[in-house]
Amino acid sequence: MDKDRARERIEELRTIIRYHDYLYYVKNQPEITDSEYDKLFAELRSLENQFPDLITSDSPTQRVSGEPQKEFKTRQHTIPMISLDNAFEESDIFDFINRIKRFVKRHIDIDFVVEPKIDGLALELVYENGLLVAGVTRGDGITGEDVTANVKTIKTIPLKLMTDDPPPLLEVRGEVFLSKSAFQMINEQQEEQGKPPFANPRNAAAGSLRQLDPSITAKRPLSAFFYAPGMIRGLNVSTHFEFLQKINSYGLKINPLVKTVKDITEIFNYHRYLSDIRDSLPYEIDGVVIKVNSLELQKELGETARSPRWAIAYKFKPRQAVTKINDIIVSVGRTGTLTPVAIFEPVDIAGVTVSRATLHNQDEVDRLDVRVGDYVVVERAGDVIPEVVKVLKEKRAITSTPFKLPDKCPICGSKAIKYEGEVAIRCTGIDCPAQLKERIKHFCKKDAMDIEGFGDKICDQLVEKKIVKGIEDIFYLTMGDLFKLERMGKKLAENLLNSIEKAKKTEFYRFIYALGIRFVGEVTAKKLAETFKNIDNLINAKEEELKSIPDVGPVVAKSIFTFFSEEKNITAVKKILSAGIVFKENEKVAGFFSGKSVVFTGTLSSMPRGEAKKLVEKQGGIVKSSVTKDLDYLIVGEEPGSKLDVAKGLNIKILSEEEFIKLIKKEEENKVTGRLL
Ligand SMILES: [Zn+2]
Repeated sequence: MDKDRARERIEELRTIIRYHDYLYYVKNQPEITDSEYDKLFAELRSLENQFPDLITSDSPTQRVSGEPQKEFKTRQHTIPMISLDNAFEESDIFDFINRIKRFVKRHIDIDFVVEPKIDGLALELVYENGLLVAGVTRGDGITGEDVTANVKTIKTIPLKLMTDDPPPLLEVRGEVFLSKSAFQMINEQQEEQGKPPFANPRNAAAGSLRQLDPSITAKRPLSAFFYAPGMIRGLNVSTHFEFLQKINSYGLKINPLVKTVKDITEIFNYHRYLSDIRDSLPYEIDGVVIKVNSLELQKELGETARSPRWAIAYKFKPRQAVTKINDIIVSVGRTGTLTPVAIFEPVDIAGVTVSRATLHNQDEVDRLDVRVGDYVVVERAGDVIPEVVKVLKEKRAITSTPFKLPDKCPICGSKAIKYEGEVAIRCTGIDCPAQLKERIKHFCKKDAMDIEGFGDKICDQLVEKKIVKGIEDIFYLTMGDLFKLERMGKKLAENLLNSIEKAKKTEFYRFIYALGIRFVGEVTAKKLAETFKNIDNLINAKEEELKSIPDVGPVVAKSIFTFFSEEKNITAVKKILSAGIVFKENEKVAGFFSGKSVVFTGTLSSMPRGEAKKLVEKQGGIVKSSVTKDLDYLIVGEEPGSKLDVAKGLNIKILSEEEFIKLIKKEEENKVTGRLL
């Protein structure tokens, strides 16, 4: 395709993709399937790859393009983002309206716009001639943080306004938030990674938006509603409600519950209505915002030093209660995390009886200084699990003692330890029933023991029906055992037994990886296999020895050492091996990358990453994910990330995609012509 044709098609594709983004993310009414969308996107990306000078910042492909930053730049708001006054009682609303009437000194009918108060993070977007040029947090109201690169990753936010006639300047304010389900998902991930969970969706949204690396923000399903103007040039609207409709027509999402009301009775009804439905909304709200609808009247009313006179936030009553902690128990998660859980006198909070709340981890217990017997304030936010927010220390018994998590797993009795850099304490037992499902799934995985047919459902059943009580039992399964599973026929059972037989011939590193020792991924497992050659050497390795292996830091060494200091872990390992496991020889694959490590950065134009990885492995290399000083080669595709700079700084050998492909071709030809003979 020549460049002019490409330019036309690129423009066309961008318009189509923006339209479908709008339908999908803003309107929730997609018109095409995901795969049709992916096709359009792939076509755009490939044309832009062919003609990189046609890439513009508003292209849908440019949502995640920023490099990690060291710190945020700041940016001053053209008009300060001042906060609203809060109202808690009906009488506060009467006062608010009477103040307005006194101020204007004449009798007029006043329309109001009412909207849910989203519990998120305030954000200002700046569009110049329809293009998004900046996203800025509220900050101190005068100056905020420039989070433009992160804002671009939020799919509900248009990079270009959907109008042929955009105002020259549109500053628009809104709230970035996470849905309740996204919040729970992110907290589960945090806990799995040993990081502290976020206390509420607002903190999680703030933590996600204020990431120095936009690629992390891109993974968080942030959303946004817009509700207020900043500085605007070239937009003719006379009411707030009109303004909202206008920006909505540009592709900016507004809350569907926004409406106009005529008097105080309607305001109270709306407040009551939202208070009733708040649990059923997919996002957190904490009140109602009431605004004078007429923009002229807003201007006349102006603002005090603190807040506008024409708007107020009418908060819901906090959903809190005081109760007594009867016990703090320890639950063990599916990845072995020990979590303290407060059990309290059942108490009613806004219609829901609650009797337990997670205390997350030892750090959180220490921060609250919460103890058995304490009286505490418990808060429920939406349908999110209740939280202990405060300890009433004045009511504490003198005899109370601080709570400490045990150093043994309450389920299986194995050592429980805390690794450096993590807040969680984890059980190290291979046979821990709490972790068994996850361990078995990991053990059977393709890149671990590769036992075909042992998907999540079969693994779950094997544990639930107590057929498998430890990972070693997998290799001793019989036809009779398998027949106890649901929907199990003779053919399927035979296939499963065959997969088990086949998996017995494997590589040593796969076996090490399959054990699921914390922090031991594929790359570390390969290093361990190379270094120790057999299981006895590995079992008997001293912590110091482990630490001296390249890529095995003190934390990883401690984890491996602790694992093999548990007698029953060794018993399980030996039992698996004595089922007839045979390791293929740990011969080094001869090839260009033999014994070398390789990292990829950027997009490869000639093949997917996975394929390139296989080529490197065929040539005896190990593919890693991050650049360290021990790295041998960095292979660079299009739009390389920050890894390139890091590698240059460390004097690591850099190969372009072309060089890499030439090299592989040459190696393969040499093989054919028998150079290795
Ligand atoms: Zn355990």
